Amino acid sequence: MSLLQVRNISKSFGGVQAVAGISFDVAAGELLALIGPNGAGKSTTFNMVGGQLAASSGSVKLDGHELVGMRPRDIWRLGVGRTFQIAATFASLTVVENVQMALLSHRSRIYSWFSRAANEYRSEAMELLAQVGMAAQADRPCSELAYGDVKRVELAMGLANDPKLLLMDEPTAGMAPQERNDLMALTKRLVVDRGMAVLFTEHSMDVVFAYADRMIVLARGKLIAEGSAQEIRNHPKVQEVYFGS
Ligand code: ADP
Ligand code: MG
Repeated sequence: MSLLQVRNISKSFGGVQAVAGISFDVAAGELLALIGPNGAGKSTTFNMVGGQLAASSGSVKLDGHELVGMRPRDIWRLGVGRTFQIAATFASLTVVENVQMALLSHRSRIYSWFSRAANEYRSEAMELLAQVGMAAQADRPCSELAYGDVKRVELAMGLANDPKLLLMDEPTAGMAPQERNDLMALTKRLVVDRGMAVLFTEHSMDVVFAYADRMIVLARGKLIAEGSAQEIRNHPKVQEVYFGS
């Protein structure tokens, strides 16, 4: 059985059908790209998996547990992570403090982010930072970091719930090509080392073809193609959507 089973999920906003009956599976240990033009329904799909949006219909199962109808926090606890965008208010905290906050919010029933209990998580936070190559910068304020390094910290925070599936919506947005490749290579390594699955969106086809094990293509709320880089590259519907041919 696959780790995640998405079956026929739909979502409309007023008159706009953002997602119209999408089904796909995610296997444990795979790096799966969700691609498609702007407005295709990628973020809406992510938000239905993470529970930030309730699907109007359909089913999303993680290890057989139905996620539709569950609160985002409970879905997160079950093992669906997402990369946190470090909020502006956290920029003044250090790198390691940000990861400690993410750990604390997973463990603690009460959202007492600034309690002294956060100190308990320092060694765990340092371990996660080591996994993303940021241990040496642990005590610097996030506000001083280079953009690519902020993204690594966000990734470490996304690992706080020890996810089985990590959702990354446009993780490389705004990055230079080298930073992009570094982040994707790191993500790939984490997928292999931790045996977790990652579902990510990405604009650059070069990045998708270089790193994704498999890809799913959405257009106007529908899944139009699914497969390996080779299959997607030569798929007539994908050519049509991307190149208008
Ligand atoms: P993508 O992430 O692929 O660019 P989205 O999932 O963000 O696409 O959006 C899919 C469609 O749904 C778009 O037409 C978008 O305008 C619409 N949409 C998304 N979120 C909302 C919302 N909260 N309210 C109204 N329309 C929305
Ligand atoms: Mg989007």
